[in-house]
Amino acid sequence: MKTQRKPVSPDAAWYALRRTLPPWRFKQNLRELERVLPRYRVNEVIVKVDTEEFSHGQPPVEWVQNYQPRLFEIKKTLARLGIRYSLNPWITVGHNDRGRDATRQLPGLGTVVGHDGTVCRVCACPLSEVWRGHVRTIWTLYAETKPHVIWVEDDIRTFNHRPVRFGCFCPVHLREFATRAGREVSREELVAAILKPGPPHPWRALYLEMQAEIMEETVHFLEQVVHAVSPETSLGLMSSGPRVHCLEGRRWQRMAEALAGGRPFYSRPPMGNYHEQSLRGFYYSHDAIKLTRACLPAGTIEQTEVENVPFTQYSKSAVFTFLEIALSYAYGAHGVTLNLFDHAGTPMEAEPAFGRMLGEKKDWLNALAARAQIPGRYRGIRLLHHERASFVKHLSAGADYWDLHEDGDEAMRALEGHGLPTTYEMEEPVAIATGQTVRALSDAEIERLLSHGLFLDAVAARVLLERGFGEAVGLKWAEEPVFLDQLGPFAAEEFFYRSWGGRDRTYLTLTLPDLSSRPNVSVLQPVQRAVVTSWMVDPDTKRMLPAMTAYENRWGGRVAVHALEWASSCGPAFFHSFRRHQLHGAFRWLSKGRLPVAVQGGVFPLGFRKDTESFTLLGLFNLSLDPWPEVEWILGDFSRKPVGIEWLTPEGRWQKDGASALGKKGRSVTIHWGEAVPFDRPLFLTLRWE
Ligand SMILES: [Zn+2]
Repeated sequence: MKTQRKPVSPDAAWYALRRTLPPWRFKQNLRELERVLPRYRVNEVIVKVDTEEFSHGQPPVEWVQNYQPRLFEIKKTLARLGIRYSLNPWITVGHNDRGRDATRQLPGLGTVVGHDGTVCRVCACPLSEVWRGHVRTIWTLYAETKPHVIWVEDDIRTFNHRPVRFGCFCPVHLREFATRAGREVSREELVAAILKPGPPHPWRALYLEMQAEIMEETVHFLEQVVHAVSPETSLGLMSSGPRVHCLEGRRWQRMAEALAGGRPFYSRPPMGNYHEQSLRGFYYSHDAIKLTRACLPAGTIEQTEVENVPFTQYSKSAVFTFLEIALSYAYGAHGVTLNLFDHAGTPMEAEPAFGRMLGEKKDWLNALAARAQIPGRYRGIRLLHHERASFVKHLSAGADYWDLHEDGDEAMRALEGHGLPTTYEMEEPVAIATGQTVRALSDAEIERLLSHGLFLDAVAARVLLERGFGEAVGLKWAEEPVFLDQLGPFAAEEFFYRSWGGRDRTYLTLTLPDLSSRPNVSVLQPVQRAVVTSWMVDPDTKRMLPAMTAYENRWGGRVAVHALEWASSCGPAFFHSFRRHQLHGAFRWLSKGRLPVAVQGGVFPLGFRKDTESFTLLGLFNLSLDPWPEVEWILGDFSRKPVGIEWLTPEGRWQKDGASALGKKGRSVTIHWGEAVPFDRPLFLTLRWE
């Protein structure tokens, strides 16, 4: 018999609660769901099974058999309320051992072996036949309950299976590697080859390819198990951020296809911020949404991971939680998954602040989501990402395995934090490359970047020199970046260049990224036609070394080079109004006046411009505690004729607006908002055009 399901609610701001109902408090927890979910305005419950501190490691078959009737009961209850039922086994291969030992319960279980020889007792090697047999049994029990989605956790990866950090280097993996390498290779020998300093050893690529293939084959196995029983169930993938997945060689499209099995595919990008530290944590969250989306097939359904560990207001306020949800919808997500309540059987109403917030904010979030979900392009300065970044990265001597991850996060933070929104869309007129990701690009791709506008940090500039593009970036030479203090007694960067907002004797500290450190810096030798736009000065303010250069090359492309290595520079001390003027000036020049969007009016914005077919959506989150007195969006590359603005009122209505003014000059539009924007009231405007 087909399960009866009431038509799902039309909420654009879809709430999917992730909730554990432990066996020893099942009835009470279920009754509470029945009572409060309508008030919380929840649309879907993703039931977590054998979760966190009360997990049994690899869940015993008998335990899951005993729990299965309860899943049916939850599903029936939810159906009565018109709420969707999905399932989230807490582990796939396992997140961590936490003192459990599954090898006694599952004799012959192959577990993960780390790059350093550490061995897990619970976390399974995905090639283990014993693990596969076990998973087939228990995932069949899960699938028999016919959930809308079964979520595969982010433990379906090759790092962070505590106590192991990176793996698997077990005998089965090494045997598979030997067939590819053509000879027996020990774990020590393989790891040394992967981490070899300088140009990568060919075994690194061979191993990363192998890992990617094994993980694709593993998720295909999960898909087969689920769809053999419940062909209508979709599979969902929790992930850990594409820059990190680079270090295991993940190929996103193939991974998604293997897991989806022809059904609609769900993605749960990480939002981080598992506990509240600073509003600036949202730079990571919003980037994880944009970048994960850029990696996955079009049509993927996104439900972000809003999570609060350990699930109290001590760890995260309701306001911060609200902002994280708002941010998810602002950046176009289809829903949020809410992991806000503990997995120890405590009633949700023990901390009522979260449930109240969910109910009260729903109308406003619906109004935001309905517009932000309309297909379109988030505009800005293009950031680079390449899924083969870790294949080509050069490591230094003594590098940690972690150093294989992809660079570039620092560019996103520095630009967004100074009011220059970023994007992974390819068609933008201006891009930034920091770190080594640019190594993964072909010569043709690099030429294309260099014939538009491109900003480089010292590391990226060095890579382009090596690749023979020195003339095109305006450099005769650039030294390998070294610790600044090895070059002499440097004091500050002088921003004297008037076209980029500078003045003589305008100094910003070189004690970067913060009080206790100093950055790595490259000695640049610009070609004669290049212009030095800032200098590094000594304690007597003498201009010693070029800090930033600007150059127009023979293709008509414009390039700016910063002598700093951004990965070792972009901390709290990097952010400053002088830096903001410099970067805004540089990117305006690089884009030849077509900079898609810049935001000003205060410090630490998270702003955006999204162009749809019929309107432009503008947003601003103020990520500082001081209210912004006013806001200005400057939109370049804007050919339409704007006719009016609507703003999203606190009551959740899109309303013709009185607080803003609109100016158009050529292909540039300025929108001025004249009222204060506090951190807990993000601002959204719709710009209508003819
Ligand atoms: Zn293994």
